[in-house]
Amino acid sequence: SWGRIRNELLKSVGKSNFTNWIEPLKLDTFENGIARFEVPTKFMRDWVSRNFAEQIRQHLEKAGENVARVEFHVPSRSATSPAAVTERSSKSKTGAPRAPDDSVLTAAPLEARFTFDTFVVGKPNELAHAAARRVAEGGPVTFNPLFLYGGVGLGKTHLMHAIAHELQTRQSELRVLYLSAEQFMYRFVQALREKEIMGFKEMFRSVDVLMVDDVQFIAGKESTQEEFFHTFNALVDQNKQIVISADRAPGEIKDLEERIRSRLQCGLVVDLHPTDYELRLGILQQKAELYRSQYPGLKMAPGVMEFVAHRITTNVRVLEGALTRLFAFASLVGREITLDLVQDCLADIIRASDRKVTIEEIQRKVAEHYNIRLADMIGPKRVRTIARPRQVAMFLAKSLTTRSLPEIGRRFGGRDHTTIMHGVRKIEELKATDSQLADDLNMLQRLLEA
Ligand code: ADP
Ligand code: MG
Repeated sequence: SWGRIRNELLKSVGKSNFTNWIEPLKLDTFENGIARFEVPTKFMRDWVSRNFAEQIRQHLEKAGENVARVEFHVPSRSATSPAAVTERSSKSKTGAPRAPDDSVLTAAPLEARFTFDTFVVGKPNELAHAAARRVAEGGPVTFNPLFLYGGVGLGKTHLMHAIAHELQTRQSELRVLYLSAEQFMYRFVQALREKEIMGFKEMFRSVDVLMVDDVQFIAGKESTQEEFFHTFNALVDQNKQIVISADRAPGEIKDLEERIRSRLQCGLVVDLHPTDYELRLGILQQKAELYRSQYPGLKMAPGVMEFVAHRITTNVRVLEGALTRLFAFASLVGREITLDLVQDCLADIIRASDRKVTIEEIQRKVAEHYNIRLADMIGPKRVRTIARPRQVAMFLAKSLTTRSLPEIGRRFGGRDHTTIMHGVRKIEELKATDSQLADDLNMLQRLLEA
């Protein structure tokens, strides 16, 4: 039986090959010496028939079957059998089953709702979004790699999945491989263990688009880095698009080999900035729209969204979680979503969000960063090398805390609120043109919010 033959195959192809390629096969028909297997994707079909068809045939023969040929086919898109839906494709936004995906060789499942449609664009993410869109058009490779970075929950994974979804609809023949750096390592180690490194290399080198999420994970992991570097180079040489994400800029990832760092930097590096109030509100409104259809009849008092967007500033994931809880709770108790209910229901999240940065922390970090004395933050010196960092700290105090200008002034050695306002404006103005300053602000903000 196929079950027994599978066990034999497991022994002869090794565990990683088995899980990647053999396990998903479904014996469909076996007639006139032709064994037909169903495979979920075209990519798998090509791969399996190229690499494993003969072995499968031999095993069938050994088991006493008379096999002239083994064939693999991908169920047609209109098929409704469960096998037509790949393991990863869940429901699309409309609730209809998605067309089976034959272009994306999945190492990690793609989230169906992570599309460009559901990505809210605002100032903090507009560049990253535009770059992702460009890659998703699938035209000639203009920058390689696209390196997306930003703090946790700011939409890196969402954008990468959106690229994969879009490419797949536009060019279904494209082989798109999305996986996390952790999975890359896992597969690599497994291939090493099973002595299947050639197959591993070949597989990664045969994709058209490679996307590796959270690449900071391989920092410090020497042999994985080495392999990643080779894969990376091989694909760039073939002019294949690579998309990478990380939680920080290439230059800030510790324990990353210099040559990898510089390769990562030679494409387009864009960051997702921490959300601002408008973006948070936009995301909440989009989500709420969805929930309104899920919980018809649920009322929401005015000002609720604004309040939430104001008070929950950590990251989008937390923001979404808060809204989900709010709707679930309100519908459970059959109450309108009022500000009171929000405060009750989200007390813990709001408190956690409030336990944010203090002005003292800001001053300390900024002083460290610019290598000046903490005392100079509140002291009277007016030389540029001290005054500018001080203004940076004022700016961060204004944007990261809820303190008023006079309160901030008091903590900067009793300065007047107009001085603070001037400092904040100055930095706002400068950061638009001074990219070094913009980077500094970004990094400081991330450090402080970590
Ligand atoms: P990251 O990979 O950067 O940690 P994710 O991409 O996983 O973050 O995003 C976390 C959650 O926030 C996801 O549910 C995602 O859909 C949502 N999200 C983040 N940014 C946006 C955005 N601009 N519009 C809509 N949803 C977003
Ligand atoms: Mg992510």
